[in-house]
Amino acid sequence: MNQPKRYTITAALPYTNGAIHIGHLAGVYVPADIYARYLRLIGKDVIFICGSDEHGVPITIKAKKEGVTPQDIVDKYHAIIKTSFEDFGISFDNYSRTSAKVHHETAQEFFKTLYDKGEFIEEITEQLYDEEADQFLADRFVTGTCPKCGNEEAYGDQCEKCGSSLNATDLINPKSAISGNVPTLKETKHWFLPLDKHEAFLREWILEGHKKDWKSNVYGQVKSWIDDGLRPRAVTRDLDWGIPVPLEGAEGKVLYVWFDAPIGYISSTKEWAQRVGKDWEPYWKDKDTKLVHFIGKDNIVFHCIIFPAMLKAEGSYILPDNVPANEFLNLEGNKLSTSKNWAVWLPEYLEDFPNQQDVLRYALTANAPETKDNDFTWKDFQARNNNELVAIFGNFINRVVVLTDKYYGGVAPEPSEFSAVDEETLAAVKAYPDVIASSIERYRFREASQELINLARLGNKYLADEEPWKLVKTDEARTKTIMFVALQIASALATLSEPFLPFTANKLKTILNITSGDVENSWTDISSKNVLLPTGHKIGKAELLFSKIEDEAIQGQLDKLIASKLANEAANKKVEPQKETISFEDFSKLDMRVGTILEAEKMPKANKLLVLKIDTGIDVRTIVSGIAESFNAEEIIGKRVTVLVNLAPRTLRGVESQGMILMTESEDGKLVFVNPDISTEAKVPNGLQIS
Ligand SMILES: [Zn+2]
Repeated sequence: MNQPKRYTITAALPYTNGAIHIGHLAGVYVPADIYARYLRLIGKDVIFICGSDEHGVPITIKAKKEGVTPQDIVDKYHAIIKTSFEDFGISFDNYSRTSAKVHHETAQEFFKTLYDKGEFIEEITEQLYDEEADQFLADRFVTGTCPKCGNEEAYGDQCEKCGSSLNATDLINPKSAISGNVPTLKETKHWFLPLDKHEAFLREWILEGHKKDWKSNVYGQVKSWIDDGLRPRAVTRDLDWGIPVPLEGAEGKVLYVWFDAPIGYISSTKEWAQRVGKDWEPYWKDKDTKLVHFIGKDNIVFHCIIFPAMLKAEGSYILPDNVPANEFLNLEGNKLSTSKNWAVWLPEYLEDFPNQQDVLRYALTANAPETKDNDFTWKDFQARNNNELVAIFGNFINRVVVLTDKYYGGVAPEPSEFSAVDEETLAAVKAYPDVIASSIERYRFREASQELINLARLGNKYLADEEPWKLVKTDEARTKTIMFVALQIASALATLSEPFLPFTANKLKTILNITSGDVENSWTDISSKNVLLPTGHKIGKAELLFSKIEDEAIQGQLDKLIASKLANEAANKKVEPQKETISFEDFSKLDMRVGTILEAEKMPKANKLLVLKIDTGIDVRTIVSGIAESFNAEEIIGKRVTVLVNLAPRTLRGVESQGMILMTESEDGKLVFVNPDISTEAKVPNGLQIS
């Protein structure tokens, strides 16, 4: 689409059972916000729409676990999520929620239209049913073995290990998550969207029509879904949490959350339109509107296949022009995980790094998972801040403002003749809006953010090369010209940084005193105006835009993650199942004695082995034991131990080991001796049998 009349930008509706973490921000909300802010700056008619996705089974599971109602859960997280978005400057024109009345009505109406047009298939199917809980089992309430990869913890709708989309009845050895029982099958009536019927349209629209402009990761996933063959998909389910199916005889059934959630974009637009007194329909129904969905890769199928099929079936809506889905962001080498608390949560980030929203926005953009999964590391975060934001952007601005204040009392000086370098520099500044815009319009936000830093780099280099602090004593006219040029660059940065660093841009505009009037520049002004900040304009005092992040702050974050890792390991430690039953005769074959370690030394060239001399009460014998990683030789001399004395001797590294010491393991993996209770030690001489 070359010249859209208006833009409808949507960002994936966050699911309301937890807070927002950096993965969400990097994958969806920061790129969407950069795009929306940029479009506003170039004067486009744009709405940026989002809201909380408040239906579906995981919310009911969480409510059940916490002993509260699903409404309690969504109220709590809707508030937390909304605040995080505001805190990080995500500039939604409207943030709604799918429990809103306008959404229930819109979704029901949408369903009714498709129903009346005969777009659904009605089918009585057998669904898994938990007899004890007396309810149908939503697919998230069923776990079992994935028929495709053998993962034993697959859910009824999806295997998170291999990514396959499943039906609950496909699972091998299904189990109810409510009671743990094996579910039975029971008949129930549901409505299905026959996706197979839309295959030809999807092939033509996406595989032919968007071959060139959609990201290859998105296009590739869509193609494989379509080539795999599309099947009818249930749009209703048996559940008591959600939007009631607006048909007679459908009591106890609600719309499937995947069906109602994307309609949430439309209802949120309606809510916005009502609030600002506009018509919502052109934003969804006029073919000159450019619709763009920002999502993470787990949402591709819903936004590229299912929702477009719904919109097409309804008939009056436009289709998305692009769905620039990102890949996943990992954290310090591991997959982000809510349940394992392997994440950086936005509220916590702000506690640890107050007023440093832009640093995170920038670090996540500069390292965004645009074409492949990417790793967020705290070291990279620190480097992005210290080496780019502080050393380049912040340093340049600070020099310009401090020197202007020092030399001219904060008043922009009058330039004399421009040198060739000045001309080149000013021409280069004029080129930046198009360069950055071209990256943004192709959804290459990493590249765009680096171009922004390049502009700051240009300013920094210009000052370093021209050295006004040296010339000020000898060449007043030249110094004024240099400072004038530097002020133009600073002014350009104030505008062009806004999509990426909105808080910094505001601060910078205040410092430069360019928040209104002729000195307030739009994106295109940077290219078209010859003077961005005129002679005689009074700027304010310097204020630090960014501050250095010290190693201790980074170590603090790494320590938090290590604590999470240890807690997970402790929680996941599995107890080995009991071994086969043995007879008393079997047991009595083991001759175990209490003994004392008399000598211990490291086995040469073996990291794990200690050579011990043990008084077993029967004799003093040599035992080679693999405990060197848990103990130093000196510290265990004199230790009471339990020895299996009739184990057949083995030769280890040329030393014959005549028995075995009994050990167990502590939580952190360190070996622990199994030995007689110290309080009764005096009464347990060496050589006594264990029975
Ligand atoms: Zn699988």
